[in-house]
Amino acid sequence: MTHVLAVVNQKGGVGKTTTSVNLAAALAQAARRVLLIDLDPQGNATMGSGVDKRTVARTVYHVLLGLAELATVRVRSERGGYDLVPSNRELAGAEVELVELQSREARLKAALERVVGDYDFILIDCPPSLSLLTVNALTAAQRVLIPMQCEYYALEGLSDLVGTIKRVRAHLNPELEIAGLLRTMYDPRNTLSQQVSQQLETHFGDKVYRTLVPRNVRLAEAPSYGVPAVLWDAASKGAQAYLALADEILAQGAPA
Ligand code: ATP
Ligand code: MG
Repeated sequence: MTHVLAVVNQKGGVGKTTTSVNLAAALAQAARRVLLIDLDPQGNATMGSGVDKRTVARTVYHVLLGLAELATVRVRSERGGYDLVPSNRELAGAEVELVELQSREARLKAALERVVGDYDFILIDCPPSLSLLTVNALTAAQRVLIPMQCEYYALEGLSDLVGTIKRVRAHLNPELEIAGLLRTMYDPRNTLSQQVSQQLETHFGDKVYRTLVPRNVRLAEAPSYGVPAVLWDAASKGAQAYLALADEILAQGAPA
């Protein structure tokens, strides 16, 4: 059974892409067949996978608009050991163009149906919004991974996100559930960080991943080399955290 996991948070810069790229590489290292879909016009997951977003001829944009089959658009992240559906700024126009199309929320889901058997895990890196692109990811996924920084406003945004997940569940994807909340850029010396982290555990219980991703410069450096940090410096604290997260996700097993 293929796990389809959307990495979502409408807040910018919380670690969605860092999580997507490193989790993809860590699962690939654990001998799982992985597809990473870059669903953000920023194309950060594409670049971080070692694929130049400026030179890819076809992207997830063409897949969503029905201009190309996903199987012909995917490329290999050689260093990452996984397949990638790339993205670039062309995707920014998709939002408007999709509105005209039939079943606009389910375009990605339909495209994935033809390749789903090729993979053990499909990860979807979402843009920082609750837009039609993110709704496409939530409609295609079984579970949602929510990276978040442990700061005051993080909790505020979370209720909007949970509301969106509930609406998608009610109208588009009854199976959808939260896989887990992932604490990113964690700083144990920061009191607020600790307090918010504890609040999350109190409110969300076992929906909070045990793994804490620390603030670690290796995670921030790796994208400039186009190599996931779990390969760039496997011994670094950041890489170790993502390898532990992959173990935790593998231990969770298949969605119910
Ligand atoms: P966006 O919403 O713009 O897509 P994002 O949620 O995908 O952002 P990232 O791009 O993963 O967030 O991370 C934001 C920035 O923080 C990047 O420069 C990244 O390298 C850095 N970063 C992410 N996680 C960590 C970490 N644990 N330690 C240090 N730096 C990190
Ligand atoms: Mg991102």
